[in-house]
Amino acid sequence: MLAIAAHRDDVEQTCGGTLLRMAARGLHTAILDLTKGEAGTRGSAEARAREAAEAAHLLGVGWRQALDLPDGAVENTLENRLKIVRILRLLRPRVVILPYWQARHPDHSATATLGYEACFLSGLTKVEDGLPPHRPFKIVYASLYADVRPSFMWTLRLSCRNALPR
Ligand SMILES: [Zn+2]
Repeated sequence: MLAIAAHRDDVEQTCGGTLLRMAARGLHTAILDLTKGEAGTRGSAEARAREAAEAAHLLGVGWRQALDLPDGAVENTLENRLKIVRILRLLRPRVVILPYWQARHPDHSATATLGYEACFLSGLTKVEDGLPPHRPFKIVYASLYADVRPSFMWTLRLSCRNALPR
């Protein structure tokens, strides 16, 4: 299961519990942050890198990386789609979690479209980058940033206290 988000700390808010639960069930989970979060009001890209690594550890996530898209200017371009295609083909996730396509922050809504189109492109044989094509089986949208009624929910039954430092 791969969660794709614009900024380091988005995934923790939108689907951290889901990733925690899936890891507890033995699934391989991963996070791809599209930017390094350098435009965040608080902190710096370096501080966010440390926090992202610590959060990944707490969530039981086996793989987390950030691409180099500019924070505050995430765009759905072919170049950016191909950057995500490469990660999709490396990790070969069955399920991808994206932010909902309606959001106040333009990076969040752009990530929804960019991620969706990258998932399609990744399955095309003639998009060649030396890796075998792969199309995720399912795309799930995390709706924290939008006022939508969820169509389903995963409930978190395990105790979060067990996963957090005391
Ligand atoms: Zn964000």
